[in-house]
Amino acid sequence: MASSSSEPPKGATIEGVKNGKPIQIPAAYDFRSDTVTTPTPSMLQSIMSIHTHGDDVFSEDTTTNNLESFIVELTGKPASCFVMSGTMGNQVSIRSHLAQPPHSIVLDSRSHINNYEAGGAAVLSQAHVIPVTPTNGNYLTLEEIEASVVDSDDIHYAPTRLICLENSLKGAIMPVEEIQKISKFAREKGIKLHLDGARLWNVVAAGGGDLKEIVSYFDSVSLCFSKGLGAPMGSIIIGEKDFMKRVRHFRKMVGGATRQIGIATGPARTAVEEIFLGGKLARTHELAKRLEASWAKLGGTLRVPCDTNMVWLDLGSVGGDETDIPKLAKNAGLKWDWERIVVHHQISDDAIERLEGVFEKLVENAKVRGGVPSNKKGPSGYARRDAKRDEND
Ligand SMILES: *Cc1c(COP(=O)(O)O)cnc(C)c1O
Repeated sequence: MASSSSEPPKGATIEGVKNGKPIQIPAAYDFRSDTVTTPTPSMLQSIMSIHTHGDDVFSEDTTTNNLESFIVELTGKPASCFVMSGTMGNQVSIRSHLAQPPHSIVLDSRSHINNYEAGGAAVLSQAHVIPVTPTNGNYLTLEEIEASVVDSDDIHYAPTRLICLENSLKGAIMPVEEIQKISKFAREKGIKLHLDGARLWNVVAAGGGDLKEIVSYFDSVSLCFSKGLGAPMGSIIIGEKDFMKRVRHFRKMVGGATRQIGIATGPARTAVEEIFLGGKLARTHELAKRLEASWAKLGGTLRVPCDTNMVWLDLGSVGGDETDIPKLAKNAGLKWDWERIVVHHQISDDAIERLEGVFEKLVENAKVRGGVPSNKKGPSGYARRDAKRDEND
């Protein structure tokens, strides 16, 4: 399990060498989220190699303009706009699509926009949200969306002007065929369609569809640089040119227009090149699959299909207790605290082995206690996170 001190653990990224010993980056043993990665040397180098630091509020920052045209080319959407975070990407997109109330947004009840954006749609866009829980437990279908959309001028209702999807959601991929059907329906009805694509990179890397094709079905998409891609910060909104003008206006309004932001957009571009185009997400998906298999060997099942970089353990399936996790993980030198496991590009192979050891202990503990296996009922629930789980997504 422990690796020799002269060599870095296999598969791990090291930050440097001190007194002949590798310095391990802390994220190598951290399974809480793919936000915990630290910028790679090439991301940091991209800041140092910037020649001109212009003002992005004047659209004069070359590094930022380059990132935006690079993303336009990569995705095939006519325009793009860098924003500070995934939340800002979603909220500014929502605000820019909508006019004035009464209006409603149909979305997945388990989505980030519905749960983890501090109620932003209500405050910033005065929107009524209509959360729908997929009966297949994994993704919304056209039929469910059709049944939930308010397509009426009856004064009792708030007409639906926007549908928001999320892909991946909890690491699971939404089938392209379903997206296509929903898109066709939305266009026929004149309803805008937004995608929270914080982890769309993972979907594409895992074979869940072609990037250009997927985004073509949406009026806007928000993509994250700071999740699986490992950049220190930032997201980008893509869409039509007129829409992006509104986006820039509202981004300014919420304080998201910044000055020499090349220090963030430089690393963001490197992150796309190094981690996404460089094929580094594949290993994270393989490791997630390996964890799924190790868990299955112990009799465990998952709560959500393991399509990309997340493994959602069903503790009940082995009669285990989720509250055992933090201590067992800590003893193994890991950061991991509940049923969700997130694999990112800086996770070491050693950490994976240790995690498999924790799986065994969870099952042993269950046996000692005489826990009775029971699968959790209903769609893969997205329990609200409590205060001790505020590590973010
Ligand atoms: C993390 C996340 C966001 C928000 O991103 P922040 O940068 O944390 O604001 C939005 N949507 C999804 C699906 C996410 O996972």
